[in-house]
Amino acid sequence: MDNNIYVTRSSMPPYEEYIEMIKPLWESHKLTNMGENHKKLESELKKYLGVKNVSLMTNGHMALEMALQAMHLSGEVITTPFTFVSTTHAIVRNNLTPVFCDINERDLTIDVDKIEELITEKTSAIVPVHVYGHICDVERIEQIAKKYNLKVIYDAAHAFGVTYKDRSITAYGDASILSFHATKVFNTIEGGAVVYESEKLGHELYGLKNFGIRNELTIDGVGANAKMDEFRAIMGLCNLKYVDQEARKRELIVSTYQKELNGINGIRYFDKQKSVRPNYSYFPIIIDENKYGICRDDLYDRLKEYGIFTRKYFYPLVSNTECYSKNYYYKNLEIASNISERVLTLPLYSELSIENVKRICGLINNIGG
Ligand SMILES: *Cc1c(COP(=O)(O)O)cnc(C)c1O
Repeated sequence: MDNNIYVTRSSMPPYEEYIEMIKPLWESHKLTNMGENHKKLESELKKYLGVKNVSLMTNGHMALEMALQAMHLSGEVITTPFTFVSTTHAIVRNNLTPVFCDINERDLTIDVDKIEELITEKTSAIVPVHVYGHICDVERIEQIAKKYNLKVIYDAAHAFGVTYKDRSITAYGDASILSFHATKVFNTIEGGAVVYESEKLGHELYGLKNFGIRNELTIDGVGANAKMDEFRAIMGLCNLKYVDQEARKRELIVSTYQKELNGINGIRYFDKQKSVRPNYSYFPIIIDENKYGICRDDLYDRLKEYGIFTRKYFYPLVSNTECYSKNYYYKNLEIASNISERVLTLPLYSELSIENVKRICGLINNIGG
């Protein structure tokens, strides 16, 4: 038995429920190509999120690549370096130039006060990230996008189920992408989706994910293959039934972390944002070495000695990775650089026991100098 505690643990439905649902596939032999379960998951997700359209994809990364491609963008795209590399890769793989904007200290999303100074005549879109499920300032971003006629595509990979003013966060912008990767709050093993309103965009997305094939004789675009198969769609249908129940368990874990860490000198965590229903997807803390006594990297190492595996999300900054630091020029990313040196995400998954949460907090309290 592995007694280590890892940063996350994939949610799985009861075994029998999944087996029961995949049984009919041995009758139908219809395993993929927008089958019955694919259709069902799209409609269930639309209902659950309360959004107009959902296009399932093979993973979140391809969802973002396809969404950007379907918008026919060119030139520069303003985005954040404080994210998973996938966000930037999807921009660059569309032959677009990423222009990194700094983040704000408050919630670590893109600093909306610094977007306008980065806009040039080449700018065609903004790709903000709802990092850790913290929502961006969607209202300010919409104003800026309108003023300069830019598209907004949100990377909402962390934000499944998050609402702002009682509306799904994925309903903001021209499109949002979700990731249903095994490590995310809702998973289809691997999977993702584009959430959008425009029917025209939906038509493009469908072509892009299916080789541009419209019917047996008509191929009207140079599409790729980003379809989700029936086995994974069924995993999604099963997991979706438990997602609210899991969120309640996560909520209790998060409130325990907050209570136990409260008052530890030099440890900062994030409070709930205004008018937001969170999804409790991650629990990042920021370490102030001067007050806490030791630095982030030392805390990471010390916790590991006790079998507690935290993660330095997001370190290194995307702008400092081998593939971007050499080829692009960036300036004024002070806050993102600073946070990325001091952030640590603590274990968080629905089955993490409250006892273990308290043990982790106790260790953090004792390790500090
Ligand atoms: C997970 C993730 C992705 C990519 O999603 P996959 O489903 O793993 O392809 C993109 N952006 C962010 C911020 C993510 O965390």
